[in-house]
Amino acid sequence: MPVKCSLCKDRNAVVHLEFSSMYYCEECYSQYFIRKVRRTLEKYKMLEHTSRVLIAVSGGKDSSALLATLAGFSDDVEILPFHIDLGIPGYSEKCREAVEELCKGLGLKPLIFKLETEGFTMADVAKKYKKPCSPCGTIKRYWMNKVSIERKVDLVLTGHNLDDTIEVLFQAYLTGSVHTIAKTKPKLERIGDLIGRAKPLIRHTDLETLYFSSINELPFVVAECPYSRGSRSIRRKKLIEKIARDIPNFKHTFLSTHLKTFQPLLAEKTRLPPLRKCKRCGMPASAEVCSYCKLKERILKHT
Ligand code: SF4
Ligand SMILES: [Zn+2]
Ligand SMILES: [Zn+2]
Repeated sequence: MPVKCSLCKDRNAVVHLEFSSMYYCEECYSQYFIRKVRRTLEKYKMLEHTSRVLIAVSGGKDSSALLATLAGFSDDVEILPFHIDLGIPGYSEKCREAVEELCKGLGLKPLIFKLETEGFTMADVAKKYKKPCSPCGTIKRYWMNKVSIERKVDLVLTGHNLDDTIEVLFQAYLTGSVHTIAKTKPKLERIGDLIGRAKPLIRHTDLETLYFSSINELPFVVAECPYSRGSRSIRRKKLIEKIARDIPNFKHTFLSTHLKTFQPLLAEKTRLPPLRKCKRCGMPASAEVCSYCKLKERILKHT
């Protein structure tokens, strides 16, 4: 006998969430997912004093689910989908196509930035760096911020989900990275020219966004980035998944303890260095030259 949906008790269930012991049919699942995003937006006052948001869309399941959920969410908030074509051979093109298809379906015009216009791509970065994810993060943060300033955006929304957040926290607690612990929260307010950032999917697991994107047939890239192979963050995610198999709400408990107890405590005690303006590009920097300008110089020297 097929299991019935725990909500409507009528249609057959297609999704089972172990951490909550709930079963959902397709229709009820999509409604549940969207309601949860809305509750997260409200709980952390993410869209307060916001009239234009940039949504960073990578072409993956998480940011696609986020954009689809928020498109047409409110007449008061303008949405600007933003995609960075990193120039990763055999991968970036598929990502860009997925973003274009998704936006077309949602009636939105994406803003696409091609890293190659800077004279290099992630393929050049990967030749220089054994672990390209860290410089890749620098590139993405830099351009998200720069474009947000140029387009007068109030807030950047990213598709980071619960699994991503717990992986970062897991490592930060293990190594005592107090700055990372202090700044890992659902919403970071704007500091000068550093535009605020928020993660509306911070309470959704990897699997929850995968179900939503699949059920709603959103275009997204299933393949992993070739540079992620063997990365430590993927290994840590697998380990966390093993723990969650024995303790199904492990990730949720970890996040809620972090947000209720440790993050506020450490945020009070930790002072981030004051931001300056990069002397080359004028963007916010913690040193004389920002990390993006340093990275660009290093790569261009060797290409
Ligand atoms: S896996 Fe690493 S290199 Fe690939 S897109 Fe993500 S951060 Fe960039
Ligand atoms: Zn149902
Ligand atoms: Zn700079």
